[in-house]
Amino acid sequence: MAKITLDNLAHSYLKNPKSEDDYALKELNHDWVDGEAYALLGSSGCGKSTLLNIISGLLQPSQGRILFDGKDVTHAPTAERNIAQVFQFPVVYDTMTVRENLAFPLRNRGADASYIEARVNQIAAMIGMEAELGRKARGLTADAKQKISLGRGMVREDVNALLFDEPLTVIDPHMKWELRTQLKSLHHEFGHTMIYVTHDQTEALTFADKVVVMFDGRVVQIGTPQELFERPAHTFVGYFIGSPGMNVMDAKVSGRTATVGDVTVDLGADYAMPKGHVQLGVRPEFMQLTSDRSGLPARVRRVEDVGRHKIVRLEVMGKEMAVIMAEGSEIATDANYVQLKADAINVYANDWRVAPMGESA
Ligand code: ADP
Ligand code: MG
Repeated sequence: MAKITLDNLAHSYLKNPKSEDDYALKELNHDWVDGEAYALLGSSGCGKSTLLNIISGLLQPSQGRILFDGKDVTHAPTAERNIAQVFQFPVVYDTMTVRENLAFPLRNRGADASYIEARVNQIAAMIGMEAELGRKARGLTADAKQKISLGRGMVREDVNALLFDEPLTVIDPHMKWELRTQLKSLHHEFGHTMIYVTHDQTEALTFADKVVVMFDGRVVQIGTPQELFERPAHTFVGYFIGSPGMNVMDAKVSGRTATVGDVTVDLGADYAMPKGHVQLGVRPEFMQLTSDRSGLPARVRRVEDVGRHKIVRLEVMGKEMAVIMAEGSEIATDANYVQLKADAINVYANDWRVAPMGESA
């Protein structure tokens, strides 16, 4: 296991990148703490696989260095990095049995036969394939083959890190939950450094201690699920995490007060005078419909019943917003205003969060 350091790292697939836009991965400095479970979350095309492949050595970065426990491995081949990587689609040997496939990484390293047998049985139990151990991989479903790939990724206990690149894409939804739970328990048992790539916030938030959110080739926030929820560092994190995502509205901010349209809003903290395009972000959990003539004028457009709560879609000063209300709560016919909970408001300038005065880092 190892701490992985990214030092001034950036990557462009072009030979002569000219501007920042030419970089699939923009300059990045980060330590992946030894033994932590990370999720790397972002929409398709934001650079997740690029970053993962640089860490594993499948790709050489155009700029910067990668260190494992302080040792420069930037130009070391994949085999020397001692990393297990599982991809989106299965990589298995069709002519081998399931047992031989799972044993392969251990045989390759010269582990002894009794250890291999015990370890393979243990992994087969984790992926639910004990009954198929003697079967050839050929002819198994894509789902089963992907489970073998996962098993092969998990079989070695001595790796520096385990990298998963959207490994559950082809797995059926019920099994997804089961396998994610197994990965988590594997992490608790062995304490590997794990990086799990996904575009699915639920997967990210349930798997990881820390979530690394990427947007357009950039890491925009690294935080616990709670930090991402309460203090999105970038408006993208606000939209992308949460269902529905954060409501964002243009505002003028001065000290403890914001003005949205012609309505004054108390911010509960002092933000001085932020410059640039200033916006407020408030999650639907922290907005409340009211009949009092206070707050922002709102019109109810639609109510969605989603089981444990209701999502109320609103039009607020020409913009669509959402409010979450408890199941069974009533919406008054004259509920024409929406109030924002002061201590749940985040202030943004040019999409980046502004820290209020006195906030500890
Ligand atoms: P993600 O894994 O988050 O979906 P990728 O890292 O695969 O994103 O891609 C990031 C960007 O780099 C995308 O714009 C993609 O089109 C581009 N890209 C990825 N692989 C290559 C490649 N081999 N050659 C050129 N461009 C690539
Ligand atoms: Mg990818």
